Amino acid sequence: MSLVGQLYKLQQLDLELQRKQQELNEVENRLSDNRALMAAESRLASQKEQLEETRKKQKSAEWELEDLQEKVKQINSKLYSGKTMNPKELVNLEKEGEGLKSQLRLKEDALLGLMSQVEEVEAEVKTIAAEVERLKREWEQRQETLRPEKSEVETVLAKLSGERNGLVQQIDSEVLNTYEQLKLTRGQAVVKVERGRCLGCHITVPTSQWQKARAGDLIQCNNCSRILYLE
Ligand SMILES: [Zn+2]
Repeated sequence: MSLVGQLYKLQQLDLELQRKQQELNEVENRLSDNRALMAAESRLASQKEQLEETRKKQKSAEWELEDLQEKVKQINSKLYSGKTMNPKELVNLEKEGEGLKSQLRLKEDALLGLMSQVEEVEAEVKTIAAEVERLKREWEQRQETLRPEKSEVETVLAKLSGERNGLVQQIDSEVLNTYEQLKLTRGQAVVKVERGRCLGCHITVPTSQWQKARAGDLIQCNNCSRILYLE
């Protein structure tokens, strides 16, 4: 293979390496992307916290209700025991009893509200827990498919790198420098000549130049400096 042929091959290897590296990055990104699962898990945690809170509120509402019921009971027994005979005292007891009863009704309403709130949050927790499970399974499946895909790409990358190293050892270091510089500044270092034109800049290449290039000499385009390649 001529020197320019080697450089052209090197360029093809570099392009392939770049593509495979990009592929590897994408696979790695997909492998590590668990944002959906994390978000669902944190939603689940906060809903569970809310459920805990609401259950606590329900419990204390139940206790308060029991206290009130107990108080009402005590007043009723005083009222109907026949021991309290003072009319003024009886009126006061009745008033107190009425007040407690209306408190009782309010408490009962509040408790019913809390009970249905608990039910709602329980349902919500159940839904999100199912979602978390689904996302976990999806994540595991994705890991299973992507891991072999990743190692496949890594194998190809290693093979290409080996090939590149072997090729680079056969090329003069000064020529390699020129190649690397052009790659940096021009993107593509080696370009074909077609119908007498440099495919890098589309300017006509003098006949003597492309003939030398075809013979395998290292010729750079007068206009864009890219290395000219003719098969
Ligand atoms: Zn050119």
